[in-house]
Amino acid sequence: MKICLIPSIATNVEINCKESTINFLIEHQCPQCGAPAILEETDRLFACQYCRVNSYLMTDDFFRYLLPHPPDENKNIVYFPYWRFKGMLFFCGPSGIQNRFVDVSHQAIDASIFPISVGVRSQAMKLRFATAEMVGRFLKPQQSFDKFLSTFQERFGKSMPKPILHQSNIGETLSLIYSPFYLTDKLYDAILNKPVSAKLPENFNLDEFSGDRPHWHIRFVSALCPNCGWNLEGERDTLVLGCKNCNSAWYPVGKRLKQLKFAKFPNTGDRTIYLPFWRIKAEFSGINLESYADLIAVANLPRVVQNGWEDIPFRFWIPAFKVRPKVFLHLATQTTLSQPRQKLVSELPQARIYATTLPINEAVECLKLTLAGFMKPRKTIMERFCDIKIDAKSFSLVFMPFNEGHHEFIQPDFQLTINKNVLALSKNL
Ligand SMILES: [Zn+2]
Ligand SMILES: [Zn+2]
Repeated sequence: MKICLIPSIATNVEINCKESTINFLIEHQCPQCGAPAILEETDRLFACQYCRVNSYLMTDDFFRYLLPHPPDENKNIVYFPYWRFKGMLFFCGPSGIQNRFVDVSHQAIDASIFPISVGVRSQAMKLRFATAEMVGRFLKPQQSFDKFLSTFQERFGKSMPKPILHQSNIGETLSLIYSPFYLTDKLYDAILNKPVSAKLPENFNLDEFSGDRPHWHIRFVSALCPNCGWNLEGERDTLVLGCKNCNSAWYPVGKRLKQLKFAKFPNTGDRTIYLPFWRIKAEFSGINLESYADLIAVANLPRVVQNGWEDIPFRFWIPAFKVRPKVFLHLATQTTLSQPRQKLVSELPQARIYATTLPINEAVECLKLTLAGFMKPRKTIMERFCDIKIDAKSFSLVFMPFNEGHHEFIQPDFQLTINKNVLALSKNL
């Protein structure tokens, strides 16, 4: 479904409410040997086919890309910035939780002369990382990302049943895309070599937009275990890397890789894949949810509280991978309701590990949403929800085994199933 929101001179903002999108492709070179490489937007672990060196891709804040244009020395290229957001939006209302998957781009400078969004070009072309070495004039974003985000959240919120008790964005990818233009008597799109404006007024001056000298760097750190120097392993889009030599796991914090607390369920069958979940301990105010016994009351589960259940501490279990919003919320709710109590072992699984693509801070953002997913009766949610505060205290990554069936991955202990196609399509989220 596509909704056109703001008409403009050149094009429309289009918000894609699809369940999957296309990943950008990015042209780059291996940081070790300089061999050309094509990365996918979601790639983090880069394994060079030529020099065999593995590198891990990091950024200080978010990735900045530019759309390349045919070279022409006679044109003064100006790069115009667009914010891009890809992620899940959730709205909690009186009738339940609504969700949307969105993939949207929008001007980062209010300038009606430029197209209002990148359009579909970024999906058809290979991008480059915008770095300090690039030639051309880069315009400085004037609109903050938060402003851009709240504007379109508001628009979505308008169509949602009222009151909206809670809303959150989860698993978002934020980036800045620079698109090239040049000026004659009209403004031209430098990729298509076509005008995107009518004839400009005499006094129009591009220099009135402030420029930005790119000083950004894409950082590839060598994917070696900081502890023992062994090669770190993982799928190409994973945020968490494992060292099978010293049995450790690592994830990016700021400019370096930090050690991560992890565990796995004891061994099961051989047709197994391990899916990662964030297990999160939290403190609550406005609700009593300390133990398994409390959970039974809060979720109104048809179970009789047994001796000792007051002593089983309550934990959230949130999928550590991106998957379409409805499935994501279902998995978070069901696993949290199950409160897995198997004895876990601090060992990396030998079997296949599915990539961790949802960072811990994103998982923390959906704790309240998960609570809304199982709290009963709904009337209680309406009355109490705004007073509830959840504060995450500690976390670990737990690898949960799923058996591979024909069409699904099945977790027999907690009656969880994930359709394989759904999971495959989620690689682009
Ligand atoms: Zn290389
Ligand atoms: Zn190691």
